[in-house]
Amino acid sequence: MTNTITVIRGDGIGPEIMDATLHVLDAMQLGLSYEEADAGLVALEKHGELLPAATMDSIRKNRVALKSPLTTPVGEGFSSINVELRKRFDLYANVRPAKSFPNTKSRFTDGVDLITVRENTEGAYIGEGQMLSEDGETAVLTQKVTRRGSERIVRYAFELARKTGRKKVTVVHKANILKSTSGLFLRTARAVAAEYPDIQCDEMIVDACCMKLVMQPESFDIIVTTNLFGDIISDLCAGLVGGLGLAPGANIGTDAAIFEAVHGTAPDIAGQGKANPCALLLGAAQMLDHLGMPEKATKLREAIVATLEAKDSLTPDLGGTGDTMSFAKAIARRA
Ligand code: NAD
Repeated sequence: MTNTITVIRGDGIGPEIMDATLHVLDAMQLGLSYEEADAGLVALEKHGELLPAATMDSIRKNRVALKSPLTTPVGEGFSSINVELRKRFDLYANVRPAKSFPNTKSRFTDGVDLITVRENTEGAYIGEGQMLSEDGETAVLTQKVTRRGSERIVRYAFELARKTGRKKVTVVHKANILKSTSGLFLRTARAVAAEYPDIQCDEMIVDACCMKLVMQPESFDIIVTTNLFGDIISDLCAGLVGGLGLAPGANIGTDAAIFEAVHGTAPDIAGQGKANPCALLLGAAQMLDHLGMPEKATKLREAIVATLEAKDSLTPDLGGTGDTMSFAKAIARRA
């Protein structure tokens, strides 16, 4: 069976890391075909809009997209193209694994293997920009948490635990202070957790969770939390295990899923062949899991680890002298 996926090459280092990623996927002979679609600055220049209708149609039709980072120019309608994509396709689950990798500059090159499941469509990001007083001196943020939104994200986390053989879900909240919003999330999470007696459920206040993540990240398995806390925690976790060059993310909804690197367009190194392609490659591994090819996903992850272990053609951010494509070729040889 051929799977057609929408490929968005993006801005800055986007095209370089996408070329590298597709090189590895092609070498693995996965039977994927690609439909290219534009978004971001490149789409604005070519089509006069950041998110052309043809791109939306392509994602709607193929239901799976692999996306490089995008630039949202200041003052162009919406605050972020990524937030807009999540909203339009109701991509409610942001799934960000953080696993130790060998030969990185991070503190934990062994023992960490956790996944942050972040609610992607509600919370503090929904009300942003709504209330600024006329004199510009006061801003008020309304945050929205619903029982339905909380239930589906917590259920996603528990189902993910079952599917991947993980043992524990930690519900992260601030219900001691944010009694209505975080309180609703926590109460809903408890009700969902009761349906999964086979999975251990912990509860942790977000500040305590951050401290424990820094001191004992090995003790976490799956974290589930609201939008803003998840945004911050998942970057913290990326920093623990290898930095942005090794951090992927999946945005999953009922009708579509978009897989990406967590990092941005890195304008400071764009066009120089210095970009580490691993974050997008790890996003592609999440995509292979989603497409029902878990053994291929594992193979790809193992090839990345083996290439890091061998220090073969690593990019400068990892202390190597390789470039984006030579690194990808070294991974492809092992995949
Ligand atoms: P950034 O992630 O682009 O860069 C931060 C630092 O990390 C830079 O020094 C960069 O060189 C380095 N870096 C990032 N990715 C790397 C890689 N693969 N290999 C090696 N080094 C890498 O963050 P920023 O500079 O704050 O943002 C730049 C632009 O990216 C902004 O326009 C922002 O809006 C956009 N952005 C897009 C996304 C997305 O599309 N998912 C996410 C974040 C930022």
